Amino acid sequence: MMRALILGGTADASLLAAEIARAGIEAVYSYGGRTRAPADQPLPTRIGGFGGVSGLADYIRREGITHVIDATHPFAAEMSRHAIEACADADTPLIALERAPWTRVSGDNWIDVDDVGAAAAALPEAPANVFLAIGRQHIAPFASKPQHTYTLRFVDPPEVDLPFAADVIVARGPFTLRSELEMMRTRGIGWIVARNSGGGGARAKIDAARSLGLPVIMIARPQLPERPRVESVTDVMQWLGHSARLGA
Ligand code: NAP
Repeated sequence: MMRALILGGTADASLLAAEIARAGIEAVYSYGGRTRAPADQPLPTRIGGFGGVSGLADYIRREGITHVIDATHPFAAEMSRHAIEACADADTPLIALERAPWTRVSGDNWIDVDDVGAAAAALPEAPANVFLAIGRQHIAPFASKPQHTYTLRFVDPPEVDLPFAADVIVARGPFTLRSELEMMRTRGIGWIVARNSGGGGARAKIDAARSLGLPVIMIARPQLPERPRVESVTDVMQWLGHSARLGA
């Protein structure tokens, strides 16, 4: 009998969960447990790490998982690497649901960097207003440039002191072009640091930066080993052997 495991935490994972529930496929949705009140899903949900590769392989066997869909964020590389290894170990098919990265369009002023450390180094020396659109676990390197005024945006208020002084916006996306423009104008943002997440939900800040003529330091996705990958919920449903009924 089919029993799918969705490694989730993204808007795409929620869309997939809705479609899988609608199709009546037995499945479990897994959250990493980073946000305090994750969105409800129409599937049985578990929260928290599996305990590395062996923990995930054990879980797959114990729960009779027949298909694993890695719908985590493109920067959740540790989870994705573990899924590749655990599925090989448990001999269980794996597919990644991952949106294509954004590509430059006319008017974009991007500085491409490989990681967060390089992003901090790419900021100017002269004081600037910087919008750091990256997760709280990744902000430490920016303590090396304390001359800047930083704006951070998190889903939950920070529980521990940040490694440097910053203005924190607490808000959950997706955001609109209008609200991103207003936020950037009100705060006099001069630089944006973003991860190349792809997809529509996080794109508004990139569109806003273009329309304001602001530079974006764009952090490339981490490299992962080869794995089967699709970009749409429909493709995952086909992989599962069902035709998607999006919008039904
Ligand atoms: P990560 O560094 O790749 O993962 C670190 C560890 O957290 C993994 O090894 C695993 O622990 C656990 N983990 C991560 N995702 C999990 C999941 N879906 N289910 C169960 N365990 C999970 O991941 P991260 O960058 O911290 O991201 C954590 C979660 O937040 C991911 O699920 C990701 O999809 C989500 N996220 C969403 C967004 C967004 O914009 N929507 C942005 C960033 C992250 P074990 O080794 O113990 O199994």
